[in-house]
Amino acid sequence: MENKKITAIFPGSFDPITNGHIDVIRRGNKLFDNLIIAVGQNPGKSEFFSKDERVRMIRELTADMPRVTVQSYDCLTVKFAAEIKADVMLRGLRNLSDVEYEFQLAMTNRTVAGIETVFVMTSEEYGYVNSTMVRQIALLGGDVSKLIPESVYQQLRQKIKKTSHTMDTDVPE
Ligand code: ADP
Repeated sequence: MENKKITAIFPGSFDPITNGHIDVIRRGNKLFDNLIIAVGQNPGKSEFFSKDERVRMIRELTADMPRVTVQSYDCLTVKFAAEIKADVMLRGLRNLSDVEYEFQLAMTNRTVAGIETVFVMTSEEYGYVNSTMVRQIALLGGDVSKLIPESVYQQLRQKIKKTSHTMDTDVPE
């Protein structure tokens, strides 16, 4: 184990990536030799940005972190983790309600795939930020600029403009 380089996988939907995710990535960047951000799709959530769009955005945002790489995947997270030879899984905790879900997930992943999970706690200021809320507020015209990086904010606005335009033209009068 001595001098072994540790590779961590940080899986998530990142739809879109928030300042909370970035906070976790910055912390992970200090802890591991390699950090692979794995962009997947939670089957319980529908897609807003395509996977390619999400990967592109995250690559731009992590360009100054040489240990970080970004990849997308379609299979089970633990299967992808094994494919890329990840030693540990990184997950972020926002609050106590995250703990219950994440605890269950970490135990399951350890049981079925033998992979350990490392948790980091986000800064208090991001403790309430989640992607679903960001999307919902933005779709209803609210200002989410403090919750996500500026480049993501611009792309979110464009996407909403395009979506509402398509809806306008699609709806028969
Ligand atoms: P998933 O849909 O797979 O949960 P998410 O993109 O919602 O994917 O979350 C990926 C990981 O990032 C999870 O561990 C989640 O707890 C963590 N996370 C999400 N938002 C925050 C935040 N604001 N602060 C810290 N961790 C976060």
